[in-house]
Amino acid sequence: MQTGLQRGKHVEPSESELPIPLIDIRAATLELKREIDDSISAVLDRSHFILGPEVEEFDRAFASYAGASHSVSVGSGLSALHLGLSAAGIGPGDDVLVPANTFIATWLAVSEVGARPVPVDPDATTCNVTAAALESAMTPTTRAIIPVHLYGLPAEMDPIMEMAGRRGLFILEDAAQAHGAEYRGRRVGSLGNAAAWSFYPTKNLGALGDGGAVTTNDVALAERIRLLRNYGSPTKYVHTLKGTNSRLDEIQAAVLRVKLRHLDEWNARRKTVAERYLRQIQNPLIRLPVAPSWASPSWYVFVVRCPRRDDLQAHLKARGVDSMIHYPVPPHRQGAYTDLGHAEGAFPVAERLSAEVLSIPMGPHLSDEQVQFVVDSVNAFG
Ligand SMILES: *Cc1c(COP(=O)(O)O)cnc(C)c1O
Repeated sequence: MQTGLQRGKHVEPSESELPIPLIDIRAATLELKREIDDSISAVLDRSHFILGPEVEEFDRAFASYAGASHSVSVGSGLSALHLGLSAAGIGPGDDVLVPANTFIATWLAVSEVGARPVPVDPDATTCNVTAAALESAMTPTTRAIIPVHLYGLPAEMDPIMEMAGRRGLFILEDAAQAHGAEYRGRRVGSLGNAAAWSFYPTKNLGALGDGGAVTTNDVALAERIRLLRNYGSPTKYVHTLKGTNSRLDEIQAAVLRVKLRHLDEWNARRKTVAERYLRQIQNPLIRLPVAPSWASPSWYVFVVRCPRRDDLQAHLKARGVDSMIHYPVPPHRQGAYTDLGHAEGAFPVAERLSAEVLSIPMGPHLSDEQVQFVVDSVNAFG
């Protein structure tokens, strides 16, 4: 392997043993280490660790970033989805339409409120669900839809919102992969009734642990989530809702405030990498992701498709290029959801995607040489 591709001190064994990692978390941490150290130090000096000024400031800054009037930070992305549905009154007896090809958290949030996830096969080009597919999957008890901006590509929201308006449905965007992504010039996060975000460390905006948020323009919904995250408690020892404990802590909020200031710049670097891949990867066995003209993706991951996916992954690994499958088994084929009784073949697009998708290295810290090496490696497959 050429010296320009050695990662030297940037090797993160828990993430990848390969010279070109899928995502270089350690490089991201090191770039901001001084700023992050200072922000954590300020929290230690204050020693106010739960629901203090950092969370208040982060909630304000993130709402503004997402173009929403409110942001309520919570303990994880799953929790954001769960509390978003719960605050909207979704529960037992309700159906919620979800993509068949999402990370299982989207489904688990529906199960957690006692409702039923109803899978919808995605569009084979964008990998996102369309208003037409959602409409034909509608059941008499459908109360809500969770469109996922999968891989950072916004779902086509206008027709979904038009249909939801007609039918009185609650729309919760799953924006866990789409920090900064734009749909028709508007940031995702205020396109539906509410949006759920994750700050898991690998996400475009990642904490140093778990974290999440719900953004919304609905003041009453925001207030319910604010109560639900904190034992349903408006003031100490007064409990008006059966809430839970799901709070972003002050240290994570302080770190996220630092990282939020760099998000646009880091997303721009992701976009540069994506554009080079789209221009330079030319291999008849590889299908590249498609971004419609109205979309500006966040490029959380760069997902190619290949009928010989496992061979491609082995070929890349032999050259020191890491890759990952998002996702190898769709939720309806997981043991957790055998109770829903969906047979193999029930959602053919999702199932074919699970056999063909491969995420190749992406992130703000890939060097030009690394990008070139990935391009050459993918082009050499055959
Ligand atoms: C990461 C992710 C989640 C869950 O977020 P956590 O913070 O890990 O709980 C939910 N939905 C999607 C699409 C995700 O990618």
